[in-house]
Amino acid sequence: MSTKYIYLFSEGNGSMRELLGGKGANLAEMTSMGMPVPRGFTISTEACTQYYADDRTINPEIEGQIMEYIKKLEEITGKQFGSMTNPLLVSVRSGARASMPGMMDTILNLGLNDEVVEAFAKKTKNPRFAYDSYRRFIQMYSDVVMEVGKKYFEQLIDEMKEKRGVTQDTELTAKDLKELAEMFKAEYRTKLGEEFPQDPKEQLMGAVKAVFRSWDNPRAIYYRRMNDIPSSWGTAVNVQEMVFGNMGDTSGTGVAFTRNPATGEKKLFGEFLMNAQGEDVVAGVRTPQTIDQLKDVMPEVYDQFVDICHKLEYHYRDMQDMEFTIENKKLFMLQTRNGKRTAAAALKIACDLVDEGMITEQEAVAMIDPKSLDALLHPTFPKEELERAKPIGQGLAASPGAAAGRIVFTADDVVTWVDKGEKVILVRLETSPEDIEGMHYARGILTVRGGMTSHAAVVARGMGTCCVSGCGAIKMDEANKKFELGGKVYKEGDWISLDGSTGNIYGERLHTAEAEISGEFGRIMAWADKFRALQVRTNADTPKDARQAVNFGAEGIGLCRTEHMFFDPDRISAIRQMIVSDTVEQREKALSKLEPMQQADFEAIYEAMKGRPVTIRLLDPPLHEFVPTDPADIEALAKEMNITVEHLTNVVHSLHEFNPMMGHRGCRLDVTFPEIARMQTSAIIKAALAVRSRRPAWQIEPEIMVPLVGEARELAYVKNVIDATAQKLIKEAGSDMHYKVGTMIEIPRAALTADDIAKEAEFFSFGTNDLTQMTFGFSRDDAGKFLASYYDNKIYESDPFSKLDQAGVGRLVEMACELGRKTRPDIKLGICGEQGGDPSTVEFCHNVGLTYVSCSPFRVPIARLAAAQANIKNPRK
Ligand code: PEP
Ligand code: MG
Repeated sequence: MSTKYIYLFSEGNGSMRELLGGKGANLAEMTSMGMPVPRGFTISTEACTQYYADDRTINPEIEGQIMEYIKKLEEITGKQFGSMTNPLLVSVRSGARASMPGMMDTILNLGLNDEVVEAFAKKTKNPRFAYDSYRRFIQMYSDVVMEVGKKYFEQLIDEMKEKRGVTQDTELTAKDLKELAEMFKAEYRTKLGEEFPQDPKEQLMGAVKAVFRSWDNPRAIYYRRMNDIPSSWGTAVNVQEMVFGNMGDTSGTGVAFTRNPATGEKKLFGEFLMNAQGEDVVAGVRTPQTIDQLKDVMPEVYDQFVDICHKLEYHYRDMQDMEFTIENKKLFMLQTRNGKRTAAAALKIACDLVDEGMITEQEAVAMIDPKSLDALLHPTFPKEELERAKPIGQGLAASPGAAAGRIVFTADDVVTWVDKGEKVILVRLETSPEDIEGMHYARGILTVRGGMTSHAAVVARGMGTCCVSGCGAIKMDEANKKFELGGKVYKEGDWISLDGSTGNIYGERLHTAEAEISGEFGRIMAWADKFRALQVRTNADTPKDARQAVNFGAEGIGLCRTEHMFFDPDRISAIRQMIVSDTVEQREKALSKLEPMQQADFEAIYEAMKGRPVTIRLLDPPLHEFVPTDPADIEALAKEMNITVEHLTNVVHSLHEFNPMMGHRGCRLDVTFPEIARMQTSAIIKAALAVRSRRPAWQIEPEIMVPLVGEARELAYVKNVIDATAQKLIKEAGSDMHYKVGTMIEIPRAALTADDIAKEAEFFSFGTNDLTQMTFGFSRDDAGKFLASYYDNKIYESDPFSKLDQAGVGRLVEMACELGRKTRPDIKLGICGEQGGDPSTVEFCHNVGLTYVSCSPFRVPIARLAAAQANIKNPRK
């Protein structure tokens, strides 16, 4: 049987997202709810997948079905493609399973040609409108389907406006627009060497192909990577009878949210423009009116719209983001979807929906995107700073948060400056989807044009980046990379600060304050804790990080990297002495200088953790990272150690390694120099004993972790050193303190022999940074240079160093868990690689039964929420 690739809106429903995409499924659902939806059909995501399987062509079967459904649409609407009396015009719009705002392409007014436009002008008795629609269509078709680039057309419009002495598009007459349409066609001919297609069916096939193709454009690929959307999903295409918001003063178009997407406040929020088409609102070219004003402009339409909003929100049990068009006083719904929102709004909406009895606490926890919390965990401007500083201007508070940075004017410049280690604010007239990468890396975004639903605002909210939009007072000079505001000129590289919660702009660098978890954030996190099975620890090397993590809900330290403590200026000399020592005595002397310093560090960390478990890892990195390279440093060290510069230089050279990440590091250091393990164990045990005696209520039980183990006997060797040292100290102190010795699993051989290793190890912590490096054979420090080509060629979809590669590295983790449990059923299992704070990795860790994940302090709340969602989805027995 042949596949059904196409569904009329009246044939589908809201549960068919995978096949119809979000937009198609919701259009079908609204149709079945009896709402005013222009008629149409959806070409399924399977057709898109087939297009790619057929080498980017639409096969005859799919083309045949498209023609069949056009016929059906003609029958239903009573209009025909190319008709001179009652022409059918359609919009062609993308719609993936997950919404990707602005990432893919849309074509409006398809079906117009030189003849139909005349008939259309007569039928509507509105030639101005007809020619406006035609010139828009030529422009969009050229841009989206033929990839000519819209700037040539915009230039022609600007020239025409200048010639006529007008400033607004709406001031151009029917004659002007007719002339523009001719000019656009000529431009098309010049650029492409062929005539603008006149056959509506040919136009339609071109448009459908363009939408399928747009699934793979660079900005869509980038968006998918950021949002974990697989490229195999494909996009659906919606073909819908046109309704016109640009038919005159009784027509209009707008977008609205059932609640405020920036704050979550329960109040209709949106904008509309009379006599306009959709792209005018989103592009921010004209400043729209607020949705409340529709009440005065068209009271009945407003009431009907409000009623629909209530019904939709109640039906979907979530805040809705809707697009509508009014054609000659008649309302049409063009889209509804669960609205994108800021993290703060998401928390408020979730709590409000629970309080309103619309959803359960579990549903509230499940509806928050864990990654979005990141925006709430970063700094805000403290009150004193805001009282002191005087704003130089104000725009719309489009996406909350606080940001200070140096001004740059293009998305490319953002990337260049950030690569140099700078914090930047992107200042633009308006943003467009091509700017997405720059917007991602900027601390904040400031635009001159555009409302709360402009591209900049929508995208910034989605990313959790602070954004102030529509600051019309800015006199922009993009060409010379400067602007004027508040009577002062700001150039590239100057500091400014943005407050995305008030819209205020400051002409200086403001300081920021740490975030806190309270209010609705606290409520959601408390629910998350109730529903999760996986524990969440943190990677912290300093008491400050440890305290931060505890404030964010960390239940312990999963990884304390001791090497970071050695880089302090007052310690580096002692560690260097240890490294270049020729004899055990020399080394022990240097180590004895380090021991009290390490002990003090560990005491401070135990204090900060207030009795929560702390895993401390023995020294890991290659020794040469610590040795001096600067001749002056070498000379100073030689003097200090009373050896010759020549001798020291030789030692330094002898430490050189060709492949240090696979060289003399990790437990290999302890095998060659057991005195290092001895000193570190001693510092850990003494610190724990000291804190226990001061804080008897805390259950301190040191967890000592051996890095880079690949063989059970290697671990047994180091463990012997640790045990001998620890037991002696504990006995001398007359204490009954327990301690644990465990290992990192970060070498594939350790995962493969985990049953043997578990004989020695009381816990495993998966070091998925090294495990990924060694499983892929990718240098963790260099992979960034070539991974981009792997994404472009769809070999890999995401960075395996950020999101665990479940198919490969994950298999090793799973296998090691099973082998480890076989030997030691109660073995504690954790992960401490970077991936431990990534929501999809957290879900994986939950599913394979780890005890905890450990991640950086700022990702602790993200991991808590992701762990709860994983347990809601797949409850642990
Ligand atoms: C790891 O390899 O995953 C790990 C946590 O250790 P490090 O990053 O210090 O090598
Ligand atoms: Mg490692």
